[in-house]
Amino acid sequence: MASASIGASGNALASPMTNGHSPLSERIQIINDQKQFTSELTSQIERWDLRDAGFNYNIVAVFGSQSTGKSTLLNRLFGTTFDVMDETKRQQTTKGIWMCRGKDMNIMVMDVEGTDGRERGEDQDFERKSALFSLASSEVLIINLWEHQVGLYQGANMGLLKTVFEVNLGLFGGKKAQDGTNGRTLLLFVIRDHIGTTPLANLQATLTADLQRIWDSLSKPDELKDRQLTDYFDLDFTALPHKILATDQFELETRNLRGRFPMAWRSTWRTYGNKSKATKISTFRPSKSSLHNSLGIKLSAVALTEFNEQAKPQKRPIEAGKVVEGLGAMMRSWRTVALERYDRDASRYHQGVYKRKRADLIVSLDATLSPLFLGQLKNLHKACLGAFKKDILEGMKGEEYNFADVVSKAKAKCDNRFTTGARESVVDDSEEGKTEWNWEEELELLREEVQSVADQCRKDETKKMVNTIERNFKKQISEPIELALNKGSPNMWDEVLKAFRQTLDKAESTYLIKATSFNCTEEENTYSLAALRRRAWQALRSKIDEQTADSVFVGRLRAHFEERFRYDEQGVPRVWKPEDDIDGIPPWRTFFLRMPSPLFSETKALDLAAKFRKDADLAYVEAKRSTVSSVAQ
Ligand code: GDP
Ligand code: MG
Repeated sequence: MASASIGASGNALASPMTNGHSPLSERIQIINDQKQFTSELTSQIERWDLRDAGFNYNIVAVFGSQSTGKSTLLNRLFGTTFDVMDETKRQQTTKGIWMCRGKDMNIMVMDVEGTDGRERGEDQDFERKSALFSLASSEVLIINLWEHQVGLYQGANMGLLKTVFEVNLGLFGGKKAQDGTNGRTLLLFVIRDHIGTTPLANLQATLTADLQRIWDSLSKPDELKDRQLTDYFDLDFTALPHKILATDQFELETRNLRGRFPMAWRSTWRTYGNKSKATKISTFRPSKSSLHNSLGIKLSAVALTEFNEQAKPQKRPIEAGKVVEGLGAMMRSWRTVALERYDRDASRYHQGVYKRKRADLIVSLDATLSPLFLGQLKNLHKACLGAFKKDILEGMKGEEYNFADVVSKAKAKCDNRFTTGARESVVDDSEEGKTEWNWEEELELLREEVQSVADQCRKDETKKMVNTIERNFKKQISEPIELALNKGSPNMWDEVLKAFRQTLDKAESTYLIKATSFNCTEEENTYSLAALRRRAWQALRSKIDEQTADSVFVGRLRAHFEERFRYDEQGVPRVWKPEDDIDGIPPWRTFFLRMPSPLFSETKALDLAAKFRKDADLAYVEAKRSTVSSVAQ
């Protein structure tokens, strides 16, 4: 009578029981018959002294029909304290799932309620979940059965094994084949009340054939259809004598079997003690109190582990500053695969939990993807800025280039490159304005930096431009100045200043036309124009200085003097007559008076006059001698 046996435990979870021994032998009901998960496992693990064992402990679970001596076996093998059915009452003792620490072993043992469905009426769901839970969290699953159950499909829980296999494929599916040991589970078949008529080898063959048949009948996803049972499970078989009929042998054999756990299996033990399974147990949270919940955790943990393995290889190049080509596509695919995996495995369980865990999973996935995305943006930013600088340099290589054009083209290219790269790297833009995948800010930063590089270049370019204009100014001013000074007409300085003004006007307008196309600022223009005017004035000044250097100046005076002294107003050479006023032609003395004082000081003027005078005197003497000789003739 199934219902009578369940009612007794009620809804409440039993507290850890001490049995009057040390905390190490305490047991705890981790899941009750209401499928509630205990909130005390974490503290219990601490009491068991296993907290610091890290992942260095293993979990063993048992699986089998009710009252087949499972609890008895576990207590014998691991020194645990699970309740054993009282012979006189014959009433179900194990409800839900209990857990003990193995004595002197870093093992946690789970005693699972009988799994042939009889005791719980039609509650197949509980069985299914128990099986899944046992499998997901254990390294070793003991399948306990009577000898006479071998070959009986239902009786030996083979139907349930089918579920286990299916669930296992869903949980660990594609992953296992790549890594033979990771996540493998040992299925240890313990055949009870083995009389000995049928040797163990035969029983083992029957069981193996059954398992193979079950495996072959599984509906496997396409990508896993060639996978073998042995890709996921190791199988081991043992038989135990009848406890009542052959008590001594039973005790002896159970002791032997116990010895195989820490001894013979220890070397392979580690292969079962894998991190991902242990993680599942250690991720139990006291507040998450349902089997569904822990299942959700497990399923999402599996999806997450696989996902992280995919994401890992891309971390390094990103951290090294590389822009990873097609990162977005990769990240989206990892994420989709992880979510699909979770959905496939978990969607058939409680919808509320499924959805909540799914949201948690997305947060975890994005927590891994987000740094990759941000790293990619940073690297993209750097690469784009570098390319921008290169483009500017490239554009300025030719003689004839339009700086403003070069800059605006490079800017557009940079913007485009960044935007394309950033858009590609976004993983999920389903939620508008979600800060996680925002790249506009980084683009703004990039634009600012690009602008400041462009500004710097423009300043340099403007300087170069001003230099060129200055050079042209000097060329253009040279001739009119020389001309005006040579002529030495009374409005000589007016002519000089006029030429200066005209040339400078031209230079200024040349500057302004170019500066506009450069997008120079008002301030830059004011500064550049002031510099241009200053340098133009200096150029004028040094041109005048050059033209009024002593030797040049005296040479010019002599040329002037001779032109007027030796030739008349019509340009005809003079022939001096005695009555001519030689001293009065030309009025060279007034020549110096036109020199403005800033150019020559009084002494300088006298000095130049004295120099010139010698030349002039010579000319007078010659002229006078020529009249004398002509008179004498
Ligand atoms: P469980 O419900 O599978 O955990 O079974 P228990 O360990 O509570 O044992 C159920 C009953 O079977 C108890 O009365 C045990 O004494 C008895 N029992 C335990 N082991 C054996 C065994 O190997 N053979 C037989 N025939 N009875 C056993
Ligand atoms: Mg039991």
